[in-house]
Amino acid sequence: MAVPISQMWTVASYVLRKRLSGQKRYPLVLMLEPLFRCNLACAGCGKIQYPAHILKRDLSPEECFRAAEECGAPMVSIPGGEPLMHPQIAEIVEGLVARKKYIYLCTNALLLKEKIDLFKPSKYLTFSVHLDGQREHHDFSVCREGGYDKAVEGIREAVKRGFRVTTNATLFDGADPNSVRAFFDEVMAMGVEGIVISPGYSYDKAPDQKHFLGRARTRRLFRAILSNREKHWKFNMSPLFLEFLMGKRNYQCTPWGNPAYNIFGWQKPCYLLQDGYASTFAELMETTVWEDYGTESGNPKCANCMVSCGYEPSAVNDMFGSFRGFMSAVRATIFDKYEDHGARDLLNAPQLAGLGGSSPSLVQIAGDAKRQPEETRV
Ligand code: SF4
Ligand code: SF4
Repeated sequence: MAVPISQMWTVASYVLRKRLSGQKRYPLVLMLEPLFRCNLACAGCGKIQYPAHILKRDLSPEECFRAAEECGAPMVSIPGGEPLMHPQIAEIVEGLVARKKYIYLCTNALLLKEKIDLFKPSKYLTFSVHLDGQREHHDFSVCREGGYDKAVEGIREAVKRGFRVTTNATLFDGADPNSVRAFFDEVMAMGVEGIVISPGYSYDKAPDQKHFLGRARTRRLFRAILSNREKHWKFNMSPLFLEFLMGKRNYQCTPWGNPAYNIFGWQKPCYLLQDGYASTFAELMETTVWEDYGTESGNPKCANCMVSCGYEPSAVNDMFGSFRGFMSAVRATIFDKYEDHGARDLLNAPQLAGLGGSSPSLVQIAGDAKRQPEETRV
């Protein structure tokens, strides 16, 4: 696991404090969206389709600090839109660092080299660079030729200057597992601290056989990718969440673990769905009917979801909230090869049904084509 000890300690002691105080629901990562506009127009992104007057709006640094204090989570993820387009992003980052928040600034890195002088390296700041795969696949996914090369230029500059850098990929059904594994080799060679991956999200209004297959296909894809791991791959994620993706354990969604705040307020119930907004964090926690969400709830919008913003907090709570969970995480960290001959067979199959071929394709997991999926890079 690539997460530094100081960050792990901060999160572990936070979870323990919450558990000891008897608090049932608490946030781990604030998803702070300071703007929705972007300098890319990726296929599958729902954020950039807001009308122009919404796209022009920014959260002020004071609104960002108020949200961070209200919520109290030890980590803050700053997605967007493209946060580097926010005119006061340096001030926002500086203020959150001063509050000792571990920040993941999620960027497509097109502006990273140009803006890097605005930031100072810190253990609290990580640039989480959106890279969806090898050059051809990434450029296809973000609909921009040269997007991969530009992002890599930004990554190399940030690594050279001593910043913490991770990459962040969203995988959809149709991804080629061999290409994803080769991509892991490429990014680790760039000197990044670790890799973040998550399945994409899409709606499914009919919870039937299809809904089961959606999750089954996701697990098969991640089993093919994450089994028989190379020693040099490092993941900036909970090892138990990776096991969840591979189908080795089951978790229920904890959408309150990653609450989302943007110009409309606190989004109910999670970063992906928009079932209304609350004006304060306390109101979000009190008025959201949490039982209506998660795969077990029967809510069709949640039927196929295995996305990190819902299930990684469940894995982190398991890891730091019980001795058994902690020992499972230790075991997963030490024995991280995950030897699996069946997974090798999956990789060697010339064309896997449901797992795509070598050409890049962006296919939703059992989704409803009429609905635009939300941005799921977290
Ligand atoms: S997915 Fe991210 S990088 Fe792409 S358009 Fe949306 S906000 Fe921008
Ligand atoms: S299952 Fe997914 S879509 Fe549903 S509440 Fe959880 S994170 Fe949100």
